[in-house]
Amino acid sequence: MIQQVIQMQLSSEVDVAIIGAGAAGLGAYSALAGQGLSVLILEARDRIGGRALTSYLPGGIIFDVGCEWLHSADHNAFVPIANALHFDLAEAPPHWGEQSYNVNFPLVEQREFRAATEAFYSRMETASRLPADTSAAVWLEAGNKWNPLIDAVSCYVNGSELSAVSVYDVESYFETALNWRVREGYGALISAYGACCNIAFQTCVSEIDHTTRPIKLETSRGTVRADRVIYTLPTAFIGEEAVRFRPPLPQKVTASNGLPLGYAEKVLLAIDEPEMFPEEGHLFGAINRTETGSYDLRPLGQPCIEAFFGGSFTRDLEAAGQLSSFAIEELTSLLGSSFRSKVHPRAASSWARDRFAKGSYSHALPGHSRDRAILAAPVDGRLFFAGEATSSEFFSTAHGAYESGVRAANEVASSLGQVEIGTRARREIRIRRWWGRRSLRAGAR
Ligand SMILES: Cc1cc2nc3c(=O)[nH]c(=O)nc-3n(C[C@H](O)[C@H](O)[C@H](O)COP(=O)(O)OP(=O)(O)OC[C@H]3O[C@@H](n4cnc5c(N)ncnc54)[C@H](O)[C@@H]3O)c2cc1C
Repeated sequence: MIQQVIQMQLSSEVDVAIIGAGAAGLGAYSALAGQGLSVLILEARDRIGGRALTSYLPGGIIFDVGCEWLHSADHNAFVPIANALHFDLAEAPPHWGEQSYNVNFPLVEQREFRAATEAFYSRMETASRLPADTSAAVWLEAGNKWNPLIDAVSCYVNGSELSAVSVYDVESYFETALNWRVREGYGALISAYGACCNIAFQTCVSEIDHTTRPIKLETSRGTVRADRVIYTLPTAFIGEEAVRFRPPLPQKVTASNGLPLGYAEKVLLAIDEPEMFPEEGHLFGAINRTETGSYDLRPLGQPCIEAFFGGSFTRDLEAAGQLSSFAIEELTSLLGSSFRSKVHPRAASSWARDRFAKGSYSHALPGHSRDRAILAAPVDGRLFFAGEATSSEFFSTAHGAYESGVRAANEVASSLGQVEIGTRARREIRIRRWWGRRSLRAGAR
């Protein structure tokens, strides 16, 4: 089916062109569908989903290479979508804060770590009310032995060490600490959701000329003209001016540079004798350094271990092709030398070097939390911006990307004099523990 769409001729003129078939582009498309407008998504890859991708590996292992967890599941637009498409949601909580077998991390130290983490986030919360933004690292307690592990958790959550993370931004994240998974894969769900969209694949946009009416988009498959354009690419594309705007949009470049993509990568290790390992177990590779992996043992009962890495050391490990060997070394040091012969690397992500992603997800640099709103703002009522980095409260996530697409579609509708479409009903519960999503809170029982 995808092949047919690839062969399709590009429409030379549409009402709305959406650049990117990730969660944001699909959210925008679905909100505009049925509005009597011609809408076309221009997608550089030959697949739907962008940073959402499920791989089906030998042994029936399902591996979400990018997004995996439906964070804030009770406020996550992909939950009703999964139900409507008959995907199977696993509501079991994550175990990120636990250490299976208490190996190298006795219970008493786990409690100390949690207390240190709670105290750190409580200082952050207070800091978020200060008149000026600060770096999150400022609020680490000098000399606290748990600082490296608290920073490691930031690397998983933000893709970055705390020193490069804005307190204001962190504190504006909306979190309900309910994290679910899709048994068939989050990437598979998002791909299925996009199956009915009108998408021109293998169509890489290189220039957006908004001096003309309609706007002119130069692509690898010719020129597309559109009255309205919704741009959803990751921040690095604007920041590095990989897609040119004519005339240039210096405010967007500055805002994108304030919201860099962090580093987050995964490795999938198949294991022999899976019954030797606890289902839904978890291990930190080390507890005394930031450069360590977070390991999910037998996720959803599968015969594998999923390793998660974040932060700058991840960039270096991935570039050197050493993610798998690092994971195996750390696990062997925890589980004993016999582990080495039971484990087989099956897959690894490479988001940092993926030319259509250029990184994992955005974080705001200290002093740059307002850049999300600047990036999201429409230009001339014709050029609209979506993507995870433009979400004010669900940034860095797939559902945040989706909602940003719906928001941009609403802006398009309103620019055309249409009524608002696709608003989201949502309870106003604010549980602000952002770090619960991929860190300790959910696992701390
Ligand atoms: C390792 C990892 C783990 C993650 N875990 C989670 C998680 O558990 N839960 C969660 O909610 N989120 C998670 N995320 C984040 C989530 O995947 C992203 O926030 C979300 O998918 C971003 O969607 P988007 O539409 O904004 O961008 P993208 O998905 O990046 O979509 C942009 C699209 O634009 C296309 N494109 C790029 N350049 C061009 C061009 N020049 N012309 C045309 N098209 C172009 C790309 O191919 C892509 O399809 C994770 C991400 C990573 C990397």
